[in-house]
Amino acid sequence: MATKLDPHHLVALMSYAFKDKQDGSPRCLDPSLHSLKGGIVDNYETNVRTFPILDALAHISVSRKESQVIAIGLQLNSRKQEIRLTVAENQKVTDGLVNHLTKIWRKLQALSGEYEKNRGGRWDKSEPRSPEMPKKVGLSLKMGILRDIYQYSLEKQMRRIDKWSEGLRRFIKELLERRVFLHLQGFELSLYKAVVALLLAVEVVSKLHDNPKDQLTESEWELVYFQSILASEHVRIVLADRKEFVCELLAQELGDHLFRDPFQLRRALEKLTSLPRHIETLFRFAHSPRLRPALRYRLFVSAVPQKAHTVKLPASPEEWKSFLEVACYKRYDFQEMHAVELAEGFGSSKWVCPVHCECGLIQYLQTRQGNQWDRVPPFSYIGVSKLSCSACRIWIEIFNEQCGPKFYTRGSHGKWYWPWGIPRAEGPLVGVMARKVLDEYLAHLESQKLLRSNSVSSGVSSDGAEHGLSDDDRKDAEAVGATIVQDRRGSGLGFFDARG
Ligand SMILES: [Zn+2]
Repeated sequence: MATKLDPHHLVALMSYAFKDKQDGSPRCLDPSLHSLKGGIVDNYETNVRTFPILDALAHISVSRKESQVIAIGLQLNSRKQEIRLTVAENQKVTDGLVNHLTKIWRKLQALSGEYEKNRGGRWDKSEPRSPEMPKKVGLSLKMGILRDIYQYSLEKQMRRIDKWSEGLRRFIKELLERRVFLHLQGFELSLYKAVVALLLAVEVVSKLHDNPKDQLTESEWELVYFQSILASEHVRIVLADRKEFVCELLAQELGDHLFRDPFQLRRALEKLTSLPRHIETLFRFAHSPRLRPALRYRLFVSAVPQKAHTVKLPASPEEWKSFLEVACYKRYDFQEMHAVELAEGFGSSKWVCPVHCECGLIQYLQTRQGNQWDRVPPFSYIGVSKLSCSACRIWIEIFNEQCGPKFYTRGSHGKWYWPWGIPRAEGPLVGVMARKVLDEYLAHLESQKLLRSNSVSSGVSSDGAEHGLSDDDRKDAEAVGATIVQDRRGSGLGFFDARG
């Protein structure tokens, strides 16, 4: 049964009810539960492997320091050998972004061609993995791609560096002061190696930021690349035992006098390795013989036009109070206070509510645009630069309950954001959206013991894994780091002292 309440008002109410907290429903996609349509090849296993590629393309599309979220959809016309990426943002997609994606794709095509030439038909489809390439193959093409991506995303990357690298450096220095360095082992040794490699890469990238007119040399880019991959490999080991909470326990142990709250070690490591990890995913895409068709086809890039609604929320405590009474079907004591806080929090002016990129993209792909792509089914997976908010998660769920095509992203972080705009302001989904959000609101009130009866569901999560350096590359990259740490040792832990 649908409700007459405006879904926008209910989403605003949920963002008030949860503020910055998660609503208990963060969840990750489990691909085994879904069938996929419109992938690069007619093979489920291969198409699942393209999820991280679409996420990587969305990730490298972010350039602004904050509040920029990107979604990317894929269509493939194998008969005409054409491929289309459709890009959506919460705000307007710029020409600069379309050009950036086109340029990176061309370079990935060149890299894929170089790998193909080197394989020279030596690849047998029955082998689980394609043959290893000598380190030098494609290296200068890879460094060109790395440079373009870092330069485009520099502001965003510096934001991550500024936010996390200093805390991480202090954290590892504290660890070294508490332990006998030579006796570091297991998880702590991996952490140490990860941080040395990360800080080396950060130092070089920061040079580019401090003096934007300077260019890094080829060998500096190689250092950024090899140290970043090395860091990602060690970080993967550090973060692997999620269930043991080793990061959290260590942060607690070292946290007492260093930081007021335990350092968010896991988050720092994830954030600082995210860009190079996604770049590595794109290199693996170019390396894959199975996915080669995608990089041989002619590329089209489309941008979804920005869409937003103007929404007027209840403006006074009285209006919010009668809204809450309708939502809860009756009057409760708590409504009075909530109504006052809601009116104070949201004010009385109109809100411009942007349609979030993943929902805008799905709506766009489902609407006839009057071009040759109308008849090409889009790939079921949408790449995103950030997990979806709860309102988007619910909208995608109800979209998928219709009898048409279904779409998935890698999941939701379980937070409610305001302002949020519904992709289509008319049609049957509006009432269903309102009903679903209202159900979650009532379940929340129930869990707070503010009502009498209701129920709620929750989700589970999973994570992916990636490959990386050859043994020789790893030894080389570790030797570079060890030498630099040794050179700067000075009175003991010089490498980990604050930068000048
Ligand atoms: Zn959203």
